[in-house]
Amino acid sequence: MNIIQLVLLCFFFLSVGSFASTLIIRLSPSNNFKILNVIYSRSNCISCKKKIGFFNLIPIVGYLIQLGKCEYCKLAISKFYPLTEVVFCLTGFFLITEYGFSEYSLIMFLIFLVLYILFFLDFKYFYLPLPLNLSIFLMGFLGNVFFSLAIDDSLLIFKVTPVTFSILGFIFGYMFLFSINFIFKTFKKIDGIGGGDFILFGGIGSIFGPFAIWPIIFLASSLGILYYVFFEKNYKKELPLGSFIILGSIVFFLLKKFELFNYILVL
Ligand SMILES: [Zn+2]
Repeated sequence: MNIIQLVLLCFFFLSVGSFASTLIIRLSPSNNFKILNVIYSRSNCISCKKKIGFFNLIPIVGYLIQLGKCEYCKLAISKFYPLTEVVFCLTGFFLITEYGFSEYSLIMFLIFLVLYILFFLDFKYFYLPLPLNLSIFLMGFLGNVFFSLAIDDSLLIFKVTPVTFSILGFIFGYMFLFSINFIFKTFKKIDGIGGGDFILFGGIGSIFGPFAIWPIIFLASSLGILYYVFFEKNYKKELPLGSFIILGSIVFFLLKKFELFNYILVL
Protein backbone atom coordinates (compact mmCIF):
# COMPACT_ATOMS: atom_id res chain seq x y z
CA MET A 1 0.00 0.00 0.00
CA ASN A 2 1.38 3.41 -0.91
CA ILE A 3 1.00 6.57 1.14
CA ILE A 4 -1.94 7.95 -0.89
CA GLN A 5 -3.93 4.74 -0.50
CA LEU A 6 -3.12 4.78 3.20
CA VAL A 7 -4.36 8.36 3.62
CA LEU A 8 -7.55 7.64 1.62
CA LEU A 9 -8.25 4.54 3.68
CA CYS A 10 -7.63 6.45 6.90
CA PHE A 11 -10.02 9.17 5.71
CA PHE A 12 -12.66 6.55 4.85
CA PHE A 13 -12.51 4.99 8.34
CA LEU A 14 -12.61 8.41 10.02
CA SER A 15 -15.69 9.29 7.94
CA VAL A 16 -17.48 6.11 8.98
CA GLY A 17 -16.71 7.09 12.58
CA SER A 18 -18.16 10.52 11.93
CA PHE A 19 -21.25 8.88 10.43
CA ALA A 20 -21.57 6.65 13.52
CA SER A 21 -21.57 9.57 15.96
CA THR A 22 -24.07 11.45 13.78
CA LEU A 23 -26.38 8.42 13.82
CA ILE A 24 -26.11 8.14 17.61
CA ILE A 25 -27.19 11.79 18.00
CA ARG A 26 -29.97 11.60 15.42
CA LEU A 27 -31.44 8.32 16.65
CA SER A 28 -31.54 9.60 20.24
CA PRO A 29 -34.98 10.00 21.86
CA SER A 30 -34.45 13.80 22.15
CA ASN A 31 -34.48 13.89 18.34
CA ASN A 32 -37.87 12.14 18.28
CA PHE A 33 -36.38 9.30 16.21
CA LYS A 34 -36.87 11.14 12.92
CA ILE A 35 -35.47 8.62 10.48
CA LEU A 36 -35.61 11.08 7.56
CA ASN A 37 -33.36 13.44 9.49
CA VAL A 38 -30.76 10.71 9.58
CA ILE A 39 -30.43 10.74 5.82
CA TYR A 40 -31.25 14.21 4.56
CA SER A 41 -30.33 17.03 6.91
CA ARG A 42 -26.86 18.58 7.22
CA SER A 43 -25.33 18.65 10.67
CA ASN A 44 -26.10 21.60 12.94
CA CYS A 45 -24.42 22.83 16.09
CA ILE A 46 -26.44 21.33 18.96
CA SER A 47 -26.40 24.66 20.83
CA CYS A 48 -26.85 27.51 18.31
CA LYS A 49 -28.38 25.31 15.55
CA LYS A 50 -26.20 26.97 12.85
CA LYS A 51 -25.22 24.71 9.97
CA ILE A 52 -21.69 23.39 10.27
CA GLY A 53 -19.47 24.61 7.42
CA PHE A 54 -18.28 22.19 4.76
CA PHE A 55 -14.61 22.09 5.80
CA ASN A 56 -15.53 21.77 9.45
CA LEU A 57 -17.40 18.57 8.64
CA ILE A 58 -14.16 16.83 7.63
CA PRO A 59 -13.32 14.27 10.32
CA ILE A 60 -10.58 15.29 12.79
CA VAL A 61 -9.48 18.16 10.48
CA GLY A 62 -12.77 19.98 11.17
CA TYR A 63 -12.35 19.49 14.89
CA LEU A 64 -8.77 20.79 14.79
CA ILE A 65 -9.40 23.89 12.63
CA GLN A 66 -12.29 24.88 14.91
CA LEU A 67 -9.99 24.25 17.91
CA GLY A 68 -12.67 22.04 19.42
CA LYS A 69 -15.28 24.85 19.57
CA CYS A 70 -18.30 25.82 17.44
CA GLU A 71 -17.16 28.66 15.15
CA TYR A 72 -20.33 30.70 15.87
CA CYS A 73 -21.24 30.25 19.53
CA LYS A 74 -17.84 28.92 20.79
CA LEU A 75 -19.53 26.02 22.56
CA ALA A 76 -17.02 23.23 23.14
CA ILE A 77 -17.57 20.32 20.74
CA SER A 78 -17.82 17.03 22.59
CA LYS A 79 -14.60 14.97 22.46
CA PHE A 80 -16.90 12.07 21.69
CA TYR A 81 -16.78 12.99 17.96
CA PRO A 82 -13.01 12.94 17.36
CA LEU A 83 -12.62 9.94 19.70
CA THR A 84 -15.25 7.96 17.78
CA GLU A 85 -13.49 8.79 14.51
CA VAL A 86 -10.16 7.57 15.91
CA VAL A 87 -11.76 4.37 17.28
CA PHE A 88 -13.15 3.55 13.81
CA CYS A 89 -9.82 4.28 12.18
CA LEU A 90 -8.00 1.94 14.58
CA THR A 91 -10.64 -0.79 14.23
CA GLY A 92 -10.53 -0.56 10.43
CA PHE A 93 -6.75 -0.91 10.31
CA PHE A 94 -6.84 -3.71 12.88
CA LEU A 95 -9.28 -5.70 10.69
CA ILE A 96 -7.26 -5.10 7.52
CA THR A 97 -4.01 -6.11 9.22
CA GLU A 98 -5.61 -9.28 10.57
CA TYR A 99 -7.91 -10.32 7.71
CA GLY A 100 -6.80 -8.29 4.68
CA PHE A 101 -9.21 -6.73 2.17
CA SER A 102 -11.79 -9.49 2.45
CA GLU A 103 -15.56 -9.83 2.73
CA TYR A 104 -14.77 -11.05 6.23
CA SER A 105 -13.18 -7.70 7.18
CA LEU A 106 -16.08 -5.82 5.63
CA ILE A 107 -18.79 -7.70 7.49
CA MET A 108 -16.86 -7.46 10.77
CA PHE A 109 -16.50 -3.72 10.25
CA LEU A 110 -20.25 -3.36 9.58
CA ILE A 111 -21.11 -5.41 12.66
CA PHE A 112 -18.75 -3.24 14.72
CA LEU A 113 -20.44 -0.10 13.34
CA VAL A 114 -23.93 -1.22 14.37
CA LEU A 115 -22.77 -2.54 17.77
CA TYR A 116 -20.98 0.76 18.46
CA ILE A 117 -24.17 2.74 17.77
CA LEU A 118 -26.30 0.35 19.86
CA PHE A 119 -23.78 0.50 22.72
CA PHE A 120 -24.12 4.27 23.14
CA LEU A 121 -27.89 4.42 22.51
CA ASP A 122 -28.44 1.83 25.23
CA PHE A 123 -25.86 3.34 27.57
CA LYS A 124 -27.32 6.84 27.36
CA TYR A 125 -31.02 6.24 26.69
CA PHE A 126 -31.74 2.54 27.35
CA TYR A 127 -32.86 2.40 23.75
CA LEU A 128 -32.10 -0.41 21.28
CA PRO A 129 -33.80 0.38 17.93
CA LEU A 130 -35.37 -2.73 16.41
CA PRO A 131 -33.98 -2.24 12.84
CA LEU A 132 -30.41 -2.08 14.19
CA ASN A 133 -30.99 -5.12 16.43
CA LEU A 134 -32.37 -7.09 13.50
CA SER A 135 -29.48 -6.07 11.26
CA ILE A 136 -27.10 -7.67 13.79
CA PHE A 137 -29.01 -10.94 13.47
CA LEU A 138 -29.05 -10.67 9.67
CA MET A 139 -25.29 -9.93 9.41
CA GLY A 140 -24.50 -12.76 11.84
CA PHE A 141 -26.65 -15.20 9.88
CA LEU A 142 -25.43 -14.20 6.40
CA GLY A 143 -21.85 -13.87 7.64
CA ASN A 144 -21.86 -17.43 8.97
CA VAL A 145 -23.68 -18.93 6.00
CA PHE A 146 -21.49 -17.30 3.35
CA PHE A 147 -18.16 -16.51 5.05
CA SER A 148 -18.06 -18.89 8.06
CA LEU A 149 -17.78 -15.85 10.31
CA ALA A 150 -17.36 -17.64 13.66
CA ILE A 151 -17.31 -21.27 12.57
CA ASP A 152 -14.08 -23.06 13.47
CA ASP A 153 -12.78 -26.63 13.38
CA SER A 154 -14.08 -27.49 16.83
CA LEU A 155 -17.63 -27.14 15.49
CA LEU A 156 -17.06 -29.75 12.81
CA ILE A 157 -17.07 -32.33 15.60
CA PHE A 158 -20.70 -31.50 16.30
CA LYS A 159 -21.54 -31.61 12.59
CA VAL A 160 -23.60 -28.40 12.73
CA THR A 161 -24.28 -26.59 9.46
CA PRO A 162 -23.74 -22.80 9.39
CA VAL A 163 -27.51 -22.30 9.15
CA THR A 164 -28.29 -24.30 12.31
CA PHE A 165 -25.25 -22.80 14.05
CA SER A 166 -26.58 -19.30 13.53
CA ILE A 167 -30.27 -20.02 14.14
CA LEU A 168 -29.53 -22.01 17.31
CA GLY A 169 -27.29 -19.15 18.47
CA PHE A 170 -30.20 -16.74 18.04
CA ILE A 171 -32.67 -18.99 19.86
CA PHE A 172 -30.28 -19.71 22.77
CA GLY A 173 -29.40 -16.03 23.20
CA TYR A 174 -33.01 -14.86 22.99
CA MET A 175 -34.38 -17.61 25.23
CA PHE A 176 -31.63 -17.21 27.83
CA LEU A 177 -32.60 -13.62 28.68
CA PHE A 178 -36.30 -14.32 28.07
CA SER A 179 -36.27 -17.12 30.68
CA ILE A 180 -34.41 -15.01 33.26
CA ASN A 181 -36.93 -12.23 32.74
CA PHE A 182 -39.81 -14.73 32.96
CA ILE A 183 -38.61 -15.98 36.36
CA PHE A 184 -38.00 -12.41 37.54
CA LYS A 185 -41.47 -11.34 36.39
CA THR A 186 -43.14 -14.28 38.14
CA PHE A 187 -41.79 -13.07 41.46
CA LYS A 188 -41.59 -9.29 41.06
CA LYS A 189 -44.51 -8.70 38.67
CA ILE A 190 -42.43 -6.29 36.53
CA ASP A 191 -40.02 -6.73 33.63
CA GLY A 192 -36.40 -6.95 34.74
CA ILE A 193 -34.92 -6.96 31.24
CA GLY A 194 -36.06 -4.98 28.19
CA GLY A 195 -37.35 -6.80 25.11
CA GLY A 196 -34.65 -5.12 23.00
CA ASP A 197 -32.01 -6.96 25.03
CA PHE A 198 -33.51 -10.37 24.06
CA ILE A 199 -33.25 -9.59 20.35
CA LEU A 200 -29.78 -8.06 20.69
CA PHE A 201 -28.46 -11.11 22.56
CA GLY A 202 -30.15 -13.34 19.97
CA GLY A 203 -28.31 -11.38 17.27
CA ILE A 204 -25.01 -11.84 19.11
CA GLY A 205 -25.83 -15.56 19.30
CA SER A 206 -26.37 -15.65 15.54
CA ILE A 207 -22.81 -14.31 15.10
CA PHE A 208 -20.92 -16.40 17.66
CA GLY A 209 -23.18 -19.46 17.82
CA PRO A 210 -24.95 -21.34 20.64
CA PHE A 211 -21.80 -22.34 22.56
CA ALA A 212 -20.65 -18.73 22.97
CA ILE A 213 -23.79 -17.68 24.86
CA TRP A 214 -22.54 -18.74 28.33
CA PRO A 215 -19.04 -17.17 28.19
CA ILE A 216 -20.46 -13.94 26.73
CA ILE A 217 -23.17 -13.55 29.38
CA PHE A 218 -20.53 -14.33 32.02
CA LEU A 219 -18.20 -11.62 30.65
CA ALA A 220 -21.10 -9.17 30.24
CA SER A 221 -22.35 -9.60 33.81
CA SER A 222 -18.81 -9.42 35.24
CA LEU A 223 -18.23 -6.13 33.41
CA GLY A 224 -21.66 -4.88 34.54
CA ILE A 225 -20.88 -5.70 38.18
CA LEU A 226 -17.45 -4.01 37.95
CA TYR A 227 -19.09 -0.92 36.48
CA TYR A 228 -21.66 -0.91 39.28
CA VAL A 229 -18.96 -1.24 41.96
CA PHE A 230 -16.68 1.49 40.58
CA PHE A 231 -19.22 3.95 39.18
CA GLU A 232 -22.08 3.55 41.60
CA LYS A 233 -22.85 7.27 41.45
CA ASN A 234 -23.63 7.00 37.71
CA TYR A 235 -26.03 4.15 38.36
CA LYS A 236 -29.56 5.32 37.59
CA LYS A 237 -32.46 2.96 38.09
CA GLU A 238 -31.15 0.14 35.94
CA LEU A 239 -27.97 -1.02 34.23
CA PRO A 240 -27.76 -0.77 30.42
CA LEU A 241 -27.62 -4.55 29.96
CA GLY A 242 -27.40 -4.25 26.15
CA SER A 243 -24.22 -2.17 26.39
CA PHE A 244 -22.57 -4.75 28.64
CA ILE A 245 -23.63 -7.58 26.32
CA ILE A 246 -21.92 -5.71 23.46
CA LEU A 247 -18.80 -5.10 25.54
CA GLY A 248 -18.80 -8.76 26.67
CA SER A 249 -19.05 -9.92 23.04
CA ILE A 250 -16.11 -7.77 21.96
CA VAL A 251 -14.00 -9.05 24.87
CA PHE A 252 -15.07 -12.61 23.99
CA PHE A 253 -14.07 -12.08 20.35
CA LEU A 254 -10.63 -10.75 21.33
CA LEU A 255 -10.01 -13.49 23.93
CA LYS A 256 -10.87 -16.12 21.34
CA LYS A 257 -8.91 -14.43 18.55
CA PHE A 258 -5.71 -14.20 20.57
CA GLU A 259 -6.34 -17.59 22.23
CA LEU A 260 -6.29 -16.15 25.72
CA PHE A 261 -8.96 -18.50 27.08
CA ASN A 262 -6.31 -21.15 27.80
CA TYR A 263 -4.51 -18.74 30.14
CA ILE A 264 -7.74 -17.94 31.95
CA LEU A 265 -8.52 -21.65 32.38
CA VAL A 266 -5.04 -22.16 33.86
CA LEU A 267 -5.60 -19.31 36.32
ZN1 LIG B 1 -22.79 26.69 17.89
